[in-house]
Amino acid sequence: MIKYSYPALIIHFLKANHLSQSRLEDIARRRLENIVRYAKARSPFFRALYKNLPEKFTLEDLPPVDKKTMMSNFDDYVTDRKVKLADVQAFIADKGNIGNDFHRRYLVATTSGSTGVPSIVLHDGNSTRSAAILTMARYMKCRFPLTAFCVDDVFLIENGNIRNNIRKMPLLSGCIRLVNAKDTYEEICRNVNRIRPKVMVGYAGSMELLADQALLGNLHIDPVQVITSGEFLTPATRDKIRKAFPKAEVISVYGCTEGNVVAYECPHRHMHLNSDFYILEPVDNCNNPVPDGVVSDKVLLTNLANFVQPIIRFSMTDRITMHHEPCPCGRQGAWFTVEGRSNDVLTMTDRDGNPVRLAPLPFIFVIEPIEGINNFQMVLHGSSDIELRIDFLPGSDHEKVFAEAEREIRRYLGKFGVEEFTVTLSDLPPQRSARTGKFRQMYQED
Ligand SMILES: [Zn+2]
Repeated sequence: MIKYSYPALIIHFLKANHLSQSRLEDIARRRLENIVRYAKARSPFFRALYKNLPEKFTLEDLPPVDKKTMMSNFDDYVTDRKVKLADVQAFIADKGNIGNDFHRRYLVATTSGSTGVPSIVLHDGNSTRSAAILTMARYMKCRFPLTAFCVDDVFLIENGNIRNNIRKMPLLSGCIRLVNAKDTYEEICRNVNRIRPKVMVGYAGSMELLADQALLGNLHIDPVQVITSGEFLTPATRDKIRKAFPKAEVISVYGCTEGNVVAYECPHRHMHLNSDFYILEPVDNCNNPVPDGVVSDKVLLTNLANFVQPIIRFSMTDRITMHHEPCPCGRQGAWFTVEGRSNDVLTMTDRDGNPVRLAPLPFIFVIEPIEGINNFQMVLHGSSDIELRIDFLPGSDHEKVFAEAEREIRRYLGKFGVEEFTVTLSDLPPQRSARTGKFRQMYQED
């Protein structure tokens, strides 16, 4: 395994700007060979999976892996033989461990689980250091203070990354500040006005509500960049954020628990792949390649930086359209557009009859961690009737799980003064929209 130290990464990123695309592809190819060799040597799962792999292999020779296979073979899958799933689960049962290193070496991140089986991914130092430098060098450009809006009680990758970096480099705590995306907007505005960030990062829905606050005159800040992640940034939301923060460049990034920071958007709204650290293949449902310009059914992701839990041709449900023609922004290499998860900002009413707008992702994370839920969808009818469509895990007590979901929803909405509403358990499972075919985890119907 090659160690990616901070100085080595900084030198790489300085050089990478001047390298040709074919040179970058050579680097990626070498990194792929390196990680495949490492996985085969250290992981019983990959040793068996790559048993018949030829010495000179192509990317397509590597069998794809999915979340279910990874999670059900976890102890054999990881390359550190001392890592056991039961110990990781015990570690994440304590929320005080968010951002701490498991076994003093690995950052633990869990997926939001919106597509069924949630996964647990360990990131080693190579992975966290690459993500930190990549983020700073390629799109944040070291502008501080930076404020990140995170749900602070879940082991999400963005939250873990930031806390982990601050813990290792305490000086960063002065320039990178976390704001809990589950707080009320009065609390959030108070915090943000105090921090006066130059750069803000958060879910698209949370940034939209922050823009509303700025347009109402409740924020006194002048950011130069607003970065959204996690949800699809709609043109309307982008316009609103631009109007609220006229000096800010508004971009979205494409990341995930398994990959960290995979791609970022240019001014032409194209996602540019960080092709020196990731390989992204658009495929159909049978893992056959999908040509440029055609929307894929899913993608296969390869993360070239994480050795402890190799992500090699890992199947993910995102639908993307890949392109190789030159982008007007001048960046080299592949770019793509992504059909991201979209949710609605919900509008409910508080005890005084005032409208309350709620960002969807923080709300989703109120329900998602409840034990017994495999997947769920929340539909708000009018402004006060919540329908919960829950796909329960086998063997779970449906009544108990639903009662806990309702209790958590009431506790969360109580913070916003929303008290008069109903919560009903639906007979329906979570489903895609009949009209658009898209899955929205949280939406409002008039
Ligand atoms: Zn571009």
